[in-house]
Amino acid sequence: MTQGPPDQLSRRSLLERASLLGTSLALALPSAASAAATVSVAPARFKIVVTGGHPGDPEYGCGGTIARYADLGHDVVLLYLNKGVTPEAARSGGAPDRVAEAAKACEILKARPLYAGQIDGNAIVDRERYEQFHRLLEAERPDVVFTHWPIDNHADHRAISMLVYDAWLRMKKGFALYYYEVSNGEDTVQFTPTLYVDISTVAERKRSACYAHASQTPDRFYQLQETVTHMRGVERGTAQAEGFIRHVQSPDFALPLIP
Ligand SMILES: [Zn+2]
Repeated sequence: MTQGPPDQLSRRSLLERASLLGTSLALALPSAASAAATVSVAPARFKIVVTGGHPGDPEYGCGGTIARYADLGHDVVLLYLNKGVTPEAARSGGAPDRVAEAAKACEILKARPLYAGQIDGNAIVDRERYEQFHRLLEAERPDVVFTHWPIDNHADHRAISMLVYDAWLRMKKGFALYYYEVSNGEDTVQFTPTLYVDISTVAERKRSACYAHASQTPDRFYQLQETVTHMRGVERGTAQAEGFIRHVQSPDFALPLIP
């Protein structure tokens, strides 16, 4: 978080601190009003948008951080590029209801699902999609957006990372931009976090949200992701942690603090 002398802190910065600490903050009024008067500032509510290539990606990559933001009273949206059903699976008639799974996961994390309208395994990044995605993200008025690290072995993950990045540029870098990892080494590659969130207290809820995606062999994928959060926990000095990289030109925005 940007530091400065107390009289140079912006109101927003103060609100961020009050909110993310989960406390109220007393602000001194000018002495002309009343020598001893203070006003209590209610915790601010911020919009957090966590984007993912498929239903399940935000949950696996940042489910703990999502739960922690939601518990602090912030408005969290999980924005999925597609509904997780390939055209082949749709034609077979036996496709699982990935939207219902995502709804359950979002309920567990206290978030709201949103879809960008693309097709699983068929991501398109062109001028039309850049414009459409920009309109979608702008309508959400996010304070902070999380997305896939762009070096990733899945084309849908790379696609949404590019769509977010382009929207961020079109929106004059007006929201904080963080990158996350999924199943490091299998999807995300070459990811070295610079920031960590302790998820130890919400790890069970993250697990439940991941297992809500029951059609996606959670026994295999959750175990892999949990190995990653234990590894990040060792780095962070906690039982489990999620790692992030903030874009170097991103506005500052506090990640949830240690409980
Ligand atoms: Zn995915």
